[in-house]
Amino acid sequence: MRALLWFKQDLRLDDHPALQAGLTAECLLPVYVLDPALLQLNEFGMRRMGVHRARFLLETLVALEGELRQRGSHLLVVIGSAEQAIPQLVAQFNLDQVLTLEEIAPDERAQVARVARRLGDIPLQQAPANNLLRTDELPFSVEQLPHVFSRFRSLVEERLQVFQPRHAPDRLPGLPDGALALMQPLPTLSQLGLGEPLSVPASAFPFSGGEPAALGRLRDYLWKTQGVRQYKDTRNGMIGSEYSSKFSPWLANGSLSARRVVAELRRHEAQFKRNDSTQWLWVEMLWRDFFRWTLIRHGSALFKAGGLKATERAPQQLDQRFQDWSRGRTGMPLVDANMRELAATGFMSNRGRQVVASYLINDLQQDWRHGAAWFEEHLIDYDPASNWGNWAYLAGVGNDPRHNRVFNALRQAREYDPDAQYVSLWLPELRDVPQALRHTPFLLAGGHLRSLGYPQLDSIPESWKPYLHAVA
Ligand SMILES: Cc1cc2nc3c(=O)[nH]c(=O)nc-3n(C[C@H](O)[C@H](O)[C@H](O)COP(=O)(O)OP(=O)(O)OC[C@H]3O[C@@H](n4cnc5c(N)ncnc54)[C@H](O)[C@@H]3O)c2cc1C
Repeated sequence: MRALLWFKQDLRLDDHPALQAGLTAECLLPVYVLDPALLQLNEFGMRRMGVHRARFLLETLVALEGELRQRGSHLLVVIGSAEQAIPQLVAQFNLDQVLTLEEIAPDERAQVARVARRLGDIPLQQAPANNLLRTDELPFSVEQLPHVFSRFRSLVEERLQVFQPRHAPDRLPGLPDGALALMQPLPTLSQLGLGEPLSVPASAFPFSGGEPAALGRLRDYLWKTQGVRQYKDTRNGMIGSEYSSKFSPWLANGSLSARRVVAELRRHEAQFKRNDSTQWLWVEMLWRDFFRWTLIRHGSALFKAGGLKATERAPQQLDQRFQDWSRGRTGMPLVDANMRELAATGFMSNRGRQVVASYLINDLQQDWRHGAAWFEEHLIDYDPASNWGNWAYLAGVGNDPRHNRVFNALRQAREYDPDAQYVSLWLPELRDVPQALRHTPFLLAGGHLRSLGYPQLDSIPESWKPYLHAVA
C-alpha cells in the first residue's frame, strides 16, 4: 500500500485509528489541508475561524510536524482546498489509498464525499471519528438515539465501557520519493490576514496547541495536581486555569483523544478511588458524546433556526442589541465581562457560556444562530456538535425536554462572582466603582455611568429585583 494520511480534526499520533491503518504501508504521506475558505465571511457575516483558533491550529501543526519528524516522517501542509489537493497528491506520488477520519458534521461530510468522488477508483478509507463511543459500542442504533441526555447516559452506563486507546507508534513508514521537496514553512497569522493576537495574562487558557501540551495537561490535571478530584466544586469557576480541565481546545482539534481522557480517568480512579468529581468529569465527557451523536443523527437540522424541534419559538430578530452583546457592551457586567474575555483570549468558562447565551436569546431576544456563529469564529475550542448543540439546547430548539432554560444573569452574578472579582478583571472601567455596585452599575446616576464610559441598560428586568443589592 502507498497511502496518503489526510489529517483533519485528529491532529495527534496517539489513539489514531487512521494512522494505525497506515503503519504497514510501503510509504505514507501525512497531509493537512489549510483551507483559506475558513477565514472568509459566512452567511452570518462571520469567519468560521478567527485569530485565536488559527494561532492554536498553527501551534498544533508545528507540534505534529515535530512528532512525525521524530518518527521518520513529515507533515505536508497545503494551503488550498482538499478537493483539489488530495487527488492531486495521490496522482503525483502514485498513491493507491487515502486514509482519513470519519466526519460527523454535514459540511465536512459533504467535503469528504466530494474528495472521494474526485479520487475515482482510489479508495478513501474513513476511520472512526473522535467520539468516545464507536457505533458498535452504542447500546442502540443511531436512529434510536434518545432525545434526552439522562436517557442516553443511563443506557450507556448500563454497560461497562472499557477504552483501550493505542499509543503513538515508535516509527512511521517513510515519505514517497520526492515528497520532501514539497515541504514549506507554515504561513504566519499575518500572512493569513489575521494579525497577531495579544497575549493576555488573565487568560483562563494559557496553554499552547499540540499533542505534547495536551498530554501534559492531561497528566497534570489527573496525576500531578489532581485538580480532577475537586472538579465538582470548582467547575463553575471563571478565573484562572484550574477551575476545570481545559481539555476542550485539544479535544476539538483532535490533538487529544476523548478515549485517552477516559482511559486515564479510569486509571486514576483505580489508583485513587472514584469520587463525585471524577464521576462528574466522566458525565461531561458523555455530554460531549451525546451532542456528537445528536449531530450524526440529525445533521443539518441542528443549524436551523427551529433546530431539532423545527419550531418557530426561538426569536429570529437581529438588531443593534446583537452588536452590543458581541462587543461586550450590553450594560450587564457579567455578560460583558465574559464576552470581552472571549474576544481577548478565545476562551470562556462553561458558566459564562450559559449566561451569555441565555442573555442573548431570552433577555435580548436575538436569533440564537448568530450567537452560535459568533462563538464559532471566536472560540479556541470550537466544535460544531458541542457549540451548536449547546446553543440549540439553550434556545429551546435542541434536545432539552424543557422549552428553554432561562438564566437570571444577575442572580448568576451574585452566585458565581460574589465579590465581583471576575467582572473587575475584564471590565477595567468598573474598577473604581464601589464593589457593591460592580454588578449593578446601572443603579449609578446616569452622569456617573457615562463618565465611566460604560453603557446604560435599557431597563432593569423585573426578575432581577430580588438580586439588586449585594448581600453584605
Ligand atoms: C453556548 C455554549 C457553547 C459551547 N460551545 C462549545 C464548543 O464549541 N466546544 C466545546 O468543546 N464545548 C463547548 N461548550 C461546552 C463547554 O462549555 C466546554 O466544553 C467547556 O467549558 C470547556 O472547558 P473545559 O475543557 O475546562 O471543560 P470541563 O468542564 O473540564 O469538561 C471536560 C470536557 O467535557 C466536555 N464538556 C463539558 N461540558 C460540556 C457541554 N456542556 N457540552 C459538551 N461537552 C462538554 C468538553 O469536552 C470538556 O473539555 C459550549 C457550552 C455552551 C453553553
